Amino acid sequence: MDIKKKDIRALTKVQLRDFFVEEGDKAFRGNQVYEWLWSKGAHTFEDMTNLSIATRDMLESNFVINHIKVDQMQKSSDGTIKNAVRLHDGLIVESVLIPVKNRTTACVSSQVGCSLDCRFCATSRLKRMRNLNPDEIYDQVVAIDKESRLYHNRPLSNIVFMGMGEPLMNYNNVLKAIDKITSPEGLAMSPKRIVVSTSGVPKMIKKMADDEVKFKLAVSLHSAIDEIRTSIMPFNATFPLADLREALVYWYEKTKNRITYEYVVWDGINDTKNDVEALIKFCQFAPSKVNLIEYNPIDDGEFQQAKSKAIDMYVSMLEANNITVTVRRSRGKDIDAACGQLANKA
Ligand code: SAH
Repeated sequence: MDIKKKDIRALTKVQLRDFFVEEGDKAFRGNQVYEWLWSKGAHTFEDMTNLSIATRDMLESNFVINHIKVDQMQKSSDGTIKNAVRLHDGLIVESVLIPVKNRTTACVSSQVGCSLDCRFCATSRLKRMRNLNPDEIYDQVVAIDKESRLYHNRPLSNIVFMGMGEPLMNYNNVLKAIDKITSPEGLAMSPKRIVVSTSGVPKMIKKMADDEVKFKLAVSLHSAIDEIRTSIMPFNATFPLADLREALVYWYEKTKNRITYEYVVWDGINDTKNDVEALIKFCQFAPSKVNLIEYNPIDDGEFQQAKSKAIDMYVSMLEANNITVTVRRSRGKDIDAACGQLANKA
């Protein structure tokens, strides 16, 4: 790979049009190339068969197309597929296809590694190496859409940003990728079928509200008590619950979109009545819903899924307070593809 050449997919359509004009060609040529790159998913300039050979050569000498490559694909007994995705510089991220009834959800990564330090998450063991570019995020979605059509006979229907990384710490690129995913020139998916999951970066949640984004927001809460949350998610010391709450109220006031809280109940950590009461209080600031997710063990035994009695207590107390709650079973555990298990073990 020639590092002096520019990644052509970092250019906007306008920039591509300008490039052709500067080259003495027609601006319209930029639209053709843009279509090849995004809606047709061309991997090489040679594929762009409605351009003259001279034009293709000229592009070749100026640019590269940095496509991801699915290095290894693992299939779970429940139909879940995990892709180990190789980036142009050799780094690896993971993305997951999750088939449920008539839907296929893509779980995609936004960073290589993660800068946060959630103690129950395998990805936190890797340091954050770099942000993914918009095209690297987009390509993961395209790869899963293809696998969904091939193995499940239907297109991809939903996307969750719950793979490796903290999407709000790579906000601009995540936003650009979602623009491509939702645009008619990309995959034309509805933003309502996209969930961005964050461990809660207050300033960025407010920015999302100001930007009037149309996708959904999920917050990995896990505890509504500062002391406990800080002990399992140490960055909570920097972004305490009061700041998170203020940002979420702002989000709801601007977008009128309810918030989903992701929550794992662990034995001896957050399994008391007091913990549920704090959660109920937290849920009352803005319309919200709670997903109780199953804990997926990472190698050490420090964290253990709570007893079913504790989960039942959460469900009944939340319901008694009119808060929607669902209990989610994990998928893809046998291939380390479940939440919090993505860490390049393959
Ligand atoms: N950084 C983002 C997205 C990645 S994590 C976030 O924090 O939301 C995706 C989800 O998996 C989060 O809700 C996270 O708390 C959860 N998770 C992490 N490790 C887990 C584990 N071992 N078992 C179950 N869920 C886990």
